[in-house]
Amino acid sequence: SANALSQLQQNQILLTPQQQHYLNRVLRLQKGDRFIAMDGMGKCWLAQLEGEEAQILELLSVETELPISITLMIALPKGNGFDEVVRCCTELGVACIAPIMSDRTLLNPSPQKLERWRRIASEAAEQSERSFVPTILEPISFDAALSSFATQQKYICEGRGNYPHLKNCLHNQGEMSIVIATGPEGGWTEKEIDNAIKAGFQPVSLGRRILRAVTAPIVALSLISAACEV
Ligand code: SAM
Repeated sequence: SANALSQLQQNQILLTPQQQHYLNRVLRLQKGDRFIAMDGMGKCWLAQLEGEEAQILELLSVETELPISITLMIALPKGNGFDEVVRCCTELGVACIAPIMSDRTLLNPSPQKLERWRRIASEAAEQSERSFVPTILEPISFDAALSSFATQQKYICEGRGNYPHLKNCLHNQGEMSIVIATGPEGGWTEKEIDNAIKAGFQPVSLGRRILRAVTAPIVALSLISAACEV
């Protein structure tokens, strides 16, 4: 598959150098080979490689998206841990990732990081044959994030405190979106948990073991997608 088509003209796709590299060198396709092309906004086509261009053969109806929209609010982990979160959560079907600056967040990301995360999301969407590329928002403060998402199903993951397991809290009452928040290496502060509860977030557990800040969102996404996908 090749996401984010550069130009679509008269059933021809003009491929960018990156797309040509991906098709020729990574997927090892040759002239005449067919592949699925996606525009990253929900449309897919069967296409045939013709050198620097591709011929559109037919519009496809491919359903690889989850039936609900999941937003991950994640306190930025240190190092390059966020790259892995973006990659895995994109594969698992996340719709939107909101990087959060929490009280114990150590990382202050540069604008180049945001570009890098968006590129990783696009590549992971391609790899997992998704028809949408998830949105990666600009980092915002925890307090701003608490009031940014309008849905009844909002959860904050907390490993301490004996909270109910996420798998037992998910419900299907016509809600088409879920927000799930995971904390940094040092965890959420008590004040953050209190503020989240006041903002309508339900504290939940992901099991008895304490997961790394990078592992927790991947587990949360896996549980939600397993519960809502048939
Ligand atoms: N030092 C922190 C503590 O004592 O709570 C551990 C933080 S953990 C490495 C990073 C984040 O992952 C937590 O803030 C939480 O959001 C999530 N997390 C890890 N294990 C969890 C669990 N068993 N249940 C729910 N959330 C968990």
